[in-house]
Amino acid sequence: MNAYLHIPFCASICSYCDFTSFAGRESQMAAYVDALCVEIRDSSLRGPLQTVYFGGGTPSLLAPERLGQVLGTLQKKAGFAEDVEISMEANPETVEGERLRAYRSLGINRLSFGAQAAQKEILRRLGRGHEWERVEKAFHDARKAGLDNLNLDLMFGLPGQTLEMFRESLEKAVGLSPEHLSLYALQVEEGTPLARQVAEGLALPSEDLIADEYAWAQGFLARRGFPQYEVSNFAREGKACRHNWNVWRGEDYWGFGVSAVGTVGSVRHSHGDDLMEYIRQVNARQDVLAEEYLTEDTRAWEKLMLGLRTQDGVEKAEADRFIQTAGRTRARFNRLLQEGFLSLNGGRYRVTSKGYFVLNGILEVLDA
Ligand code: SF4
Repeated sequence: MNAYLHIPFCASICSYCDFTSFAGRESQMAAYVDALCVEIRDSSLRGPLQTVYFGGGTPSLLAPERLGQVLGTLQKKAGFAEDVEISMEANPETVEGERLRAYRSLGINRLSFGAQAAQKEILRRLGRGHEWERVEKAFHDARKAGLDNLNLDLMFGLPGQTLEMFRESLEKAVGLSPEHLSLYALQVEEGTPLARQVAEGLALPSEDLIADEYAWAQGFLARRGFPQYEVSNFAREGKACRHNWNVWRGEDYWGFGVSAVGTVGSVRHSHGDDLMEYIRQVNARQDVLAEEYLTEDTRAWEKLMLGLRTQDGVEKAEADRFIQTAGRTRARFNRLLQEGFLSLNGGRYRVTSKGYFVLNGILEVLDA
């Protein structure tokens, strides 16, 4: 079993963000963490937990004592596997030596820093609260605190970002010797300040430039010892994020907190995204989960879709099951094989390097 905990607090809201997160709500952190612990205690979660993932939001805004409260509740409720991976997302400007040592002593053994880019002007336009120097400091402080499994998130396809700027960001990130790198293409989400800026004329990079950035990163990272193991993720040997990997492989995971989603067996559960309503409902011992039964068709499709995201790919037999249950034809797989977007080796379909850039298009073809 794996557990995801959503921590919906940020110091300020980035221009492109459409995650469930709130700024200026520090006064509700204690009540939220208390509610999270009640939800965990009242759930039917069963351990031992193989992985725990604090995502957000900015989980590193939480004082170590509050994270300790959540981890203590999980430990008591379900217990941890001996080699449990406990990951936390962190913004570089929110952590320093003492806090990082405290996190480490709580058992947190993997940090993921939202670095995004190395250029001040790009970070400012995104509404991020740090500069690259702060990333370096947080990274070195984390190492000193004994954290030996560190990720850096970077973004590409950003307004005003040239190929050279993206290269500089990635080179600087690799220069820090992290165990893991995640690269995300900017998505302009409806209703965000960025979407308004784009509507008012802010220029976005061309598709060609975005494709060049991604292809360059794939080659560069392969040469530097970070094989790609998922559409957005690259890691040193044995350093893939186990939490995400388990989810992509279709293992059960429990989601706790506002907007968190989980899947246990054939049931998907989800939460609403209203912070105060969540706290109120949990405290009133009302059910905060919406549940959906996943049909065999949906499960076959999700297995295929999640498998194709990763370098594990999907077994041909699994794809055959999807073709059968969903009434698709094999011709679509064959077409993608011929066009070089999929490969078929050792009885498994995999998306090729070239295919990763158009993964959504591939999935659309298979699901049409
Ligand atoms: S730090 Fe992350 S979650 Fe918070 S506002 Fe920025 S993008 Fe959203």
